[in-house]
Amino acid sequence: MIRTKAYAAQKPSAPLAPWEFDRRDPGDKDVLIDVTHCGICHSDIHQVRDEWGGATFPMVPGHEIVGRVSKVGAKVTRFKVGDLAGVGCMVDSCRDCAPCRKGLEQFCAKGAAFSYNSTEMDRKTPTYGGYSNRIVCDEAFTLRIPAGLDPAGAAPLLCAGITTWSPLRHWKAGKGTRLGVVGLGGLGHMAVKLGAALGCEVTMLSTSPGKEADARRLGAAAFALTKDPETFKKLAGRFDLIIDTISAPHDYNAYLSMVAVDGAMVVVGVPPAPAPVHAFALIGGRKTLAGSLIGGIAETQEMLDFCGKHGIVSDVEVIPMSKVNEAYERTLKADVRYRFVLDTSTI
Ligand code: NAP
Ligand code: ZN
Ligand code: ZN
Repeated sequence: MIRTKAYAAQKPSAPLAPWEFDRRDPGDKDVLIDVTHCGICHSDIHQVRDEWGGATFPMVPGHEIVGRVSKVGAKVTRFKVGDLAGVGCMVDSCRDCAPCRKGLEQFCAKGAAFSYNSTEMDRKTPTYGGYSNRIVCDEAFTLRIPAGLDPAGAAPLLCAGITTWSPLRHWKAGKGTRLGVVGLGGLGHMAVKLGAALGCEVTMLSTSPGKEADARRLGAAAFALTKDPETFKKLAGRFDLIIDTISAPHDYNAYLSMVAVDGAMVVVGVPPAPAPVHAFALIGGRKTLAGSLIGGIAETQEMLDFCGKHGIVSDVEVIPMSKVNEAYERTLKADVRYRFVLDTSTI
């Protein structure tokens, strides 16, 4: 077994604190990664606080994991010692059901093995995430980090990047698409960068007036304040596609009013409680309200390669592990520009 140092929450809402556990020795198809960086996703906070229900403890969060390969199994073909590698939200799936065969492992009919707060496919062994100094992962679920990308900036691509890339691709966003991005946090800033790189005309829809200059620097052509009711009138029917990244309760109907005829609003943010949607918000304009969950492994690699080609990484604030609880509080106040990334060498 491989002794691993980590930060864990021992029970719901407990502060994260040092903890140690064992990871399996790498098997024939596994890689061992010495983790150097792990992003803080708002999903980590929802899960540590058990806001979605069913959380298991001790919990080692973290699914935006980057590090150096330090050991490979005998049958590993795609990685060698010293490579920069990444692990995102999943470490395995059944690989045999219809979604898995289509490269949609996140929708595995048996339930994917998520990187933490989940189990391996044996449905017994708990998974522990990237707030740790080592991870063991099957090479099939390990991502290649393109050369030239800063490892800290690349880490958030493993969740925030793919979660926004996948709907942009699925809804065929490209040149001329009028894209509205709701919420300028970790996911939102990646939606702006990726949408702009794909040629979309991006409007940032935010509650924070102080983020306008950043939104424009990240690639938004326009910025509108959602605290101002006039915004919803001015932008009525404006967007072919809206990506909604808000982590807290809000009125979906109001945002749907800004969707164009035959347009779609894709929810990726997961507020803890359900919210009502009126039929009128959809029928007048044949609008689609959809959701999207991360992305498959091949699509994640596609996104990483796109980022490598276009030099896209997250805007990050790298912090030592000891500041993780403070970073949670700041994230909850929407005070992050635009992703905290843990320097896991400080565990
Ligand atoms: P984040 O960095 O905290 O960003 C969320 C942003 O939403 C904030 O920066 C803020 O932007 C806005 N916001 C926050 N509270 C708000 C409120 N009460 N009303 C209106 N806007 C508010 O979070 P994140 O890491 O990007 O994650 C966002 C959500 O996506 C979380 O719920 C997370 O669990 C979920 N998520 C889903 C997936 C998936 O696969 N679907 C993957 C990853 C994360 P402004 O300051 O610009 O208003
Ligand atoms: Zn995430
Ligand atoms: Zn499957």
